[in-house]
Amino acid sequence: MNSYYITGIILSRENIGEKDRLVVFLTKERGKLKAVARSSRRISSKMAGSLEPFNLVRCWIHIGRTFDIIKGVEIIRTFPNIIKDIDLYLYTSRIVEFTQSIVQENEETLDVFKLLLGTLSAINDYGNINSIGIFFWLNILTLAGYKMRLDRCVCGGEKIVGFSPSMGGVICSNCMMKTTDVMLLSNPALTLLREYATIRLSEAIKREIPKDLLAEVENIIANFRIYHTNIRLKSEEVTI
Ligand SMILES: [Zn+2]
Repeated sequence: MNSYYITGIILSRENIGEKDRLVVFLTKERGKLKAVARSSRRISSKMAGSLEPFNLVRCWIHIGRTFDIIKGVEIIRTFPNIIKDIDLYLYTSRIVEFTQSIVQENEETLDVFKLLLGTLSAINDYGNINSIGIFFWLNILTLAGYKMRLDRCVCGGEKIVGFSPSMGGVICSNCMMKTTDVMLLSNPALTLLREYATIRLSEAIKREIPKDLLAEVENIIANFRIYHTNIRLKSEEVTI
């Protein structure tokens, strides 16, 4: 068989040659996948409009020598509210950029596919980006093998005073001296992290997080993520 079908979310596109585009998908069937859309930069191309970032599409793909070639595209779902709101768009771009970096090619990752699709749908339909974002980051890190330790300190201590990315999560006062990357952790932030590690997306959609608490939790997650994955997002190259 020299062709196959995929269902995938469009993560990114880059121009190659005069008229073609290389499209990166997160697929339901094959994890991350790259394929070429021939002549898709022509205005008259039927494919051009379908292969927009974040779209969920079904594609018919031919096996090629260097890259596989997209022969047909059918849109399953678009996310118009994300596309027309700059804040939602930028936040979603970070989520998608990270997903593209953490997932390997041709490695089946159905859980990540479901998480990303659920997150895109939630952002589009509810817009509650802060709460949905915290949910996404904790879950994608867990799926990637970097689960935050939130129940007790690495020594077993339960009186939590801080957080250490290098020690994998929360730490007690006795262990604070054992590491140099201690971040203070307030009780509300600890409670919030513990809740978000277990709640469902349908609950995260409804929650509101106070600004100060959000900043504290986002900072902890970002430091943990960068320490363990070594992935810096384009938007973080200057700010963190
Ligand atoms: Zn300890």
